[in-house]
Amino acid sequence: GRGRFSYYDATASADSARGYALERELPRAVAEQQLVLHFQPKVRLNDCRIMGFEALVRWQHPEYGLIHPGEFIASAEATGAIRALGDWVLKACCRQVAAWRALGLDTVPIAFNVSPVQLRDGAFAERLAAHIADHGIAPSDLMMEITESCLIEPRALALSVLEQVRDMGVSIGLDDFGTGFSSLSQIKDLPIDTLKLDRSFVNDIRSSSEAGVIVTSVITLAHNLKMRVVAEGVELMDQLVYLKTAGCDEAQGYFLSRPVGAHAAEEMLRAAYLH
Ligand code: C2E
Ligand code: CA
Ligand code: CA
Ligand code: CA
Repeated sequence: GRGRFSYYDATASADSARGYALERELPRAVAEQQLVLHFQPKVRLNDCRIMGFEALVRWQHPEYGLIHPGEFIASAEATGAIRALGDWVLKACCRQVAAWRALGLDTVPIAFNVSPVQLRDGAFAERLAAHIADHGIAPSDLMMEITESCLIEPRALALSVLEQVRDMGVSIGLDDFGTGFSSLSQIKDLPIDTLKLDRSFVNDIRSSSEAGVIVTSVITLAHNLKMRVVAEGVELMDQLVYLKTAGCDEAQGYFLSRPVGAHAAEEMLRAAYLH
C-alpha cells in the first residue's frame, strides 16, 4: 500500500511474529526510554582527528536484547511511529551535545538520520530549532543525514524543509551516495554540504579498478561542487589508504571504530584523535 510493497514469506513466521511484536511495542518503547543512541566517529583522513559522530539508534528490548534499526525502522515508517522515534532521536542528540558541553569538552557535530516521512512534515525545521534552543546548543552542533528517498514524492516540501534546516545552520549530508539514481549534476543545486559515499563502493575499491576510478572521480567532482566527502563502511587498512590517496576528506567504518555507547564516545572526544 501507499506506493510500497513487501513480500510475504510463510517460512519466516517466527521472524514475522517478532516483527509484529516489535511493530506493536515500538510506540511504548519510545515513551518508556528503551531506545539508546550509539555513536560512530567520523575521522579526518589527514590526521585521524575526530570530526563528528553519527548517532545510530538501537532498541534495548526487555526480552530480545539490543535490536538494530534494520529490524524496526521500515515498519516504524509504515505505521508512522517514526515521527515519535525521530523526535526522540533529535532530543537525545541535543541532550548529548549539551552534556558534553557541560563537561567542558570540545564537542564535534552529532549527525542524526532522518526518514522521508519526517521531512513530509512542514513543521520539522521549527521543531528542530525548538529542541536546539531548549538544550542551549548551537545549530552547528548538529548535522542531518538524508537519503535520496527524502527527495522524491512531495519534492517541493522536502526541499523547503532542507532549505530551512540549512538556513538555520544545521549542515546536511547525503547518505548512501551512489546507491540511488541521482548523479552529482542532479544534486548540485540541493542544499547539501557533505556526500557520504556508500559502503558498496568502498568495498570494491581494491578489487575492481572501475570502482576505484568512480570513487576518485566522485571525490573530485564533489570537491569542485564545494562538498566534503565522507566514505562509509571502511573495514580495511587498504581501503583507508586508497581513499586518502584519492583525496577523500573523512571516513567512517569498523576499521576505525564500530558505533559505541555514549561513555566510549566521550573518551574518544577527550582524546580528539583516533588511535
Ligand atoms: P546508515 O545511515 O547508512 O548507517 C550506517 C550503518 O552501517 C549503521 O548500521 C552502521 O552501524 C553500519 N556500519 C558502520 N560502519 C560499518 C562497516 O565498516 N561495515 C559494515 N558492514 N557496516 C558498518 P545500523 O546502525 O544498523 O543502521 C542501519 C540503518 O538504519 C542506517 O544506515 C540508517 O539508515 C538507519 N538508522 C539508524 N539510526 C536511525 C535513526 O535514528 N533514524 C532513522 N530514520 N534511521 C536510522
Ligand atoms: Ca547515515
Ligand atoms: Ca549510509
Ligand atoms: Ca543506509
